[in-house]
Amino acid sequence: MCDHLPALHFGHQVDAVHWHPEHRLFEVDFTRLDADGRAASTGRAHTRHVVLGIGTEPHVPAPLRPLLNTPGAPVVHAADYLGHRDTLLAAGHITVVGSGQSGAEIFLDLLRHRPAGRERLTWIGRTEAFAPMEYSKLGLEHFTPDYTRYFHALPEPVRDRLVPAQWQLHKAIDADTLAAIHDELYRRTLHGGWPDTVLTPGVRVRAAERRPAHAIELHLEHTQQGASTRLTTDAVVLATGHRRRPLTPLLDGLAPHLRHDGRGRPRVDERHRLVMDPAVAAAGCHVHVQNAELHTHGVGTPDLGLAAWRSATILNTVTGKDTYPLPARTAFTTFGLREQQQRPRTPHPHRARALTPSADGI
Ligand SMILES: Cc1cc2nc3c(=O)[nH]c(=O)nc-3n(C[C@H](O)[C@H](O)[C@H](O)COP(=O)(O)OP(=O)(O)OC[C@H]3O[C@@H](n4cnc5c(N)ncnc54)[C@H](O)[C@@H]3O)c2cc1C
Repeated sequence: MCDHLPALHFGHQVDAVHWHPEHRLFEVDFTRLDADGRAASTGRAHTRHVVLGIGTEPHVPAPLRPLLNTPGAPVVHAADYLGHRDTLLAAGHITVVGSGQSGAEIFLDLLRHRPAGRERLTWIGRTEAFAPMEYSKLGLEHFTPDYTRYFHALPEPVRDRLVPAQWQLHKAIDADTLAAIHDELYRRTLHGGWPDTVLTPGVRVRAAERRPAHAIELHLEHTQQGASTRLTTDAVVLATGHRRRPLTPLLDGLAPHLRHDGRGRPRVDERHRLVMDPAVAAAGCHVHVQNAELHTHGVGTPDLGLAAWRSATILNTVTGKDTYPLPARTAFTTFGLREQQQRPRTPHPHRARALTPSADGI
C-alpha cells in the first residue's frame, strides 16, 4: 500500500514541532519506530502546514490513580475491558465507576453473565442520574457545522458555561442501553428474588486504596446528601472516560508564537488553525488541530460525523480551493437571533498568506 502512497509514513512518532524563522517553515522532529515500537532512527521534516490529530487517551481521575500499576485485585480501565473480562467475571464483588455509555454497557455485560441473586455488582457515577443521551433529531443539530459556527462566535465565558451544561448531548447513556439494564434487572425479580446489585448515581470516589487479602476500598461521597461511606470490592472497572492528549510537549517549541485565551488555552480560529503571531501567519503557515478545540468549537469536536466536515475544511484551507465543496446550510434550526455568517469561502493560497489573526479573534 505504501508504494502507492509514498508520502504516508506509518510507525513514526512526532516528538516536537518548531518554527524556523529564516526558512519560514515548521520543523517536525520525529522518531521512526521498529516493529516492536522501539526507536530505530530520528529525522526532521520541513513543512508549511501541520495538521495534528493525536487523539484521546484513557482518563483516570486522581483519587483512583493509586490503584493503577500495583499488584492485587484487578483494576481495569473500560478501554481494556474486553481483554480482562474473564478475570473480572471471576471476582467476588465488582464495582463499575462511571455513569456514561461505557459504564452502562460494561455493567449490563457483567450483569448478564452473573448468576441471578448472586450478581454482587455495584455501579456508581458522578452524574445526578443515570441519564439518557439527547438523541432527538433537532437535538442532534448541535452536531452540525451551523451550530459549531454559532458556538465559535460566542464570547469565551458563554462557551465555557455551555460545554459542561451540554453533557447530556454526548456523555450520557443511550436510552436502549438504559432500557436493557432495567429489563435485565426486572427479569431477575420475576421469581420472587431481587438482584444483588447497587446502582447509585451522584456518587464521587474521594479516595481509593488497596487493602490486605486482595481487596480494594473506595471512599465514596454522595454530593446531594453530603454523606460518605466506604465500599470494599474485589475488582474495579474504571469507566471514567477519555481525555484529549495534551498538545504539550509536542508544541512546546511553538509556545512563544501561540496566542492564548483568557484561561491560557490555545486560540483556535474557525478553520481549526491555532492562532499564532503575525510573523508565522503572514508566511501562510498554519498548525491545524483536530479534537483539541472543545473550548472553541463545542461539543461536536470529538464527533465522528463532524470529523468529515472538519477534515474537508482543513484540506480546503491547505489547498486553497474547494477540493471538497461544503454546504452553506446544515441545520433546520437557526442558532441565535443575529444572522449567522455564512460559511466563509476557502481562502486563496496567496490571499491566505496575508491573513493575520485579529486582536480579539479566537
Ligand atoms: C469509547 C468511545 C466511544 C465513542 N463513541 C463515539 C460515537 O458513538 N460517535 C462519535 O461520533 N464519536 C464517538 N467517539 C469519539 C470518536 O471516536 C473520537 O473522537 C475519534 O475516534 C478520535 O479520532 P482521532 O483521529 O482524533 O484520534 P485517534 O483515533 O485517537 O487517533 C490518534 C492517532 O494519533 C497517534 N498519535 C498520538 N500521538 C502521536 C505522536 N506524537 N506522533 C505520531 N502519532 C501520534 C495515535 O497513535 C493514534 O493513531 C467515541 C470515543 C470513545 C473513546
